Amino acid sequence: MTKKNLSTIAVRGGIENDGQYNAVVPPIYLSSTYAFEGFDQKGPYDYSRCGNPSRDILANTLAELEQGEHGIVTATGTAAIHLVCQLLKPDDLLVVPHDCYGGSYRLFVNLAERGAFKLKVINQTNPAELDEAFAAKPKVIWVETPSNPLLRITDVKNISARAKACGAYVAVDNTFLSPVFQQPLTLGADIVVHSTTKYINGHSDVVGGVVVTASKELGEELAWWANCIGITGSAFDSYLTLRGVRTLVPRMKQHQENSLLLVDVLNGHEAVDVVYHPSLPTHPGHDIAREQQLGFGAMLSFELKGGTDQVIKFIDALHHFSLAESLGGVESLVCHPATMTHAAMDEAAQLTAGIKQNLVRFSVGIEDGKELATDVKQALDSLLD
Ligand code: PLP
Repeated sequence: MTKKNLSTIAVRGGIENDGQYNAVVPPIYLSSTYAFEGFDQKGPYDYSRCGNPSRDILANTLAELEQGEHGIVTATGTAAIHLVCQLLKPDDLLVVPHDCYGGSYRLFVNLAERGAFKLKVINQTNPAELDEAFAAKPKVIWVETPSNPLLRITDVKNISARAKACGAYVAVDNTFLSPVFQQPLTLGADIVVHSTTKYINGHSDVVGGVVVTASKELGEELAWWANCIGITGSAFDSYLTLRGVRTLVPRMKQHQENSLLLVDVLNGHEAVDVVYHPSLPTHPGHDIAREQQLGFGAMLSFELKGGTDQVIKFIDALHHFSLAESLGGVESLVCHPATMTHAAMDEAAQLTAGIKQNLVRFSVGIEDGKELATDVKQALDSLLD
């Protein structure tokens, strides 16, 4: 069979698999337990934490979208990140970027402090820091590209090739782009992680996560751990998330189209100091993004001229953006990373990561793009009064 297009995979995942009534949309299996076929004769499922048909359809669909061999659906994106940490023993080294999602940073730092593994926090776009990290023989290299919130781009192909040479795993948090705009396993990574809370579900009504592995063996090892530590996703959340996945491709296209309109409004506006979006040729990661991504994505951030007062005034002047954490939903959100998504980082860590008080982040939704652009323009203009 020829390789399926992403839209076809997303729309048709689990469709027409119902053997009982030929339902087109797969039914939801809420039962926590499954009857044995006889004494010591387990059927395909026995207990929902270990395995669930609704969760399996989602896991298989996401694994296929990421071109992986195995998918493990978890209760949250953070649980998916925690799951990858199960690969590490106390003497193993985990290398993470200094500007990863604040919750990931908190998890890594606190687990390392308790002796779960050794940790090195580096700027992965700095070749000298990368050389030093590889010389220390890491077991896992964590990559988040584009990074949150500054959209720094890390070269997945280069890191993966170097990691292979020293026997390390590369795990990529692909939450910001979804498989529509980036497929890290095809670039040589071993593991992809998503907070499915974001673009994958896309409707801001489910919290969830997934780990997809390039190899079956690694997937089976992590699936064992997911059951062992009890972090697998619920049937209901899996059902809703699969419903969201069906429209992933057209949503991503619209998100991106709208974000490019907003980049145009922000770039060069008198009230704006810097715009961070990989589509800009001036963005330091633009060339790598062009090479390894299939789109530039719809997350963007920018620094306003002035301090927190200007940020507050700007956010108050917006009509079509909700002040909220999270991202990737159909609705547009505005966020102040220093006091919201990245508040788990102390001030020093924020400054090292380049997160300033005047930084604002947009998760650009799929409302009418021209209306969003007009809204942002009037809010920026109001800062010049
Ligand atoms: N990874 C990234 C890039 C995120 O932005 C987030 C949450 O904002 C997570 C992981 C954690 O996901 P969750 O909130 O589903 O636990």
